[in-house]
Amino acid sequence: MEWGHSISFFYSGAEFMKEQLNALQSNGLDELAAAISEEALQEVKVKYLGKKGALTALMKGIGALSPDERPAVGNLVNAVRDLLESRLEERLSAVRSAAKAERLQRERLDVTMPGRQRPVGTRHPVTLVIDEINEIFAGLGFQVAEGPEIELDFYNFEALNFPKDHPARDMQDTFFVENSLLLRTHTSPVQIRTMLNQPPPVRIIAPGTVYRCDYDATHSPMFHQIEGLMVDKGITFGDLKGILTIFINQLFGKDIGVRLRPSFFPFTEPSAEVDIACVICRGKGCRVCKNSGWLEILGAGMVDPEVFRHVNYDPEAVTGFAFGLGIERIAMLKYGINDMRLLFENDLRFLQQF
Ligand SMILES: [Zn+2]
Repeated sequence: MEWGHSISFFYSGAEFMKEQLNALQSNGLDELAAAISEEALQEVKVKYLGKKGALTALMKGIGALSPDERPAVGNLVNAVRDLLESRLEERLSAVRSAAKAERLQRERLDVTMPGRQRPVGTRHPVTLVIDEINEIFAGLGFQVAEGPEIELDFYNFEALNFPKDHPARDMQDTFFVENSLLLRTHTSPVQIRTMLNQPPPVRIIAPGTVYRCDYDATHSPMFHQIEGLMVDKGITFGDLKGILTIFINQLFGKDIGVRLRPSFFPFTEPSAEVDIACVICRGKGCRVCKNSGWLEILGAGMVDPEVFRHVNYDPEAVTGFAFGLGIERIAMLKYGINDMRLLFENDLRFLQQF
């Protein structure tokens, strides 16, 4: 083989670069066509058009070319870059619109489909009565106060003038926890806690759960009470009757008859049971009122000075009244429920009527 013949196979520097650029262009176009995600297209872009990409690397060779070769190679570099960039843009927009179409298809909503009905709950009749009573007393300037359900003997009995071994303690069948801890038998301990925490005047109601060892159609071992307390200078039994009459008229209606009978509670003196005219027979006499025409709904009285001494209030300076009522009894009368146990069985057929 002649040397002169074989030399014709050598490329000039420019030809070599053109060949390289063509190969780069064709590979780049193939890879752009094969990339089917935005991320893959970005990788191709970096590989060919990035600062450290293949095209930049090739351009470094231009400096080694003779000056008359440079413009043609430079133009070719620009043409390859332009082609790859415009193909990249096309591919990006194609991939994006495909992704969008796929997402729209996936998230397609049929707005003509009928909605799914969600069952709507109702408030429990006990809650309804508590809310209503809270609202009535809020209108009379009373604030809601709360206390613990596991209570110390001191707050539940001692400070309320139930001395140890006093027969009045037998009126309430107590669940004892241990030592001096018990499940509160009434919400009255909240009175004591409130008075120990603040000087008079006091105007509170204390709704809450209470516990007694008792179970039949009109008694439950767990039930709810609301207790009220008003203490200030010069509070009289007339204030007690006035406030309770307003309350009863708002709860049961303006014309309902109200009467007070003398009674006994350790923590009030004098004490009274408050009756309303039977809401079933309107006073004529029926099974619910045992033909008396009256229904007992709450106990009340003037705070015993002994209770004031336990909370460091001066019985010579202030007087007050307290009252308490069972929520379940009110709910039964208001809604005509004849068995208290219905209120705790949570039978939806019953509860949905409210
Ligand atoms: Zn009656």
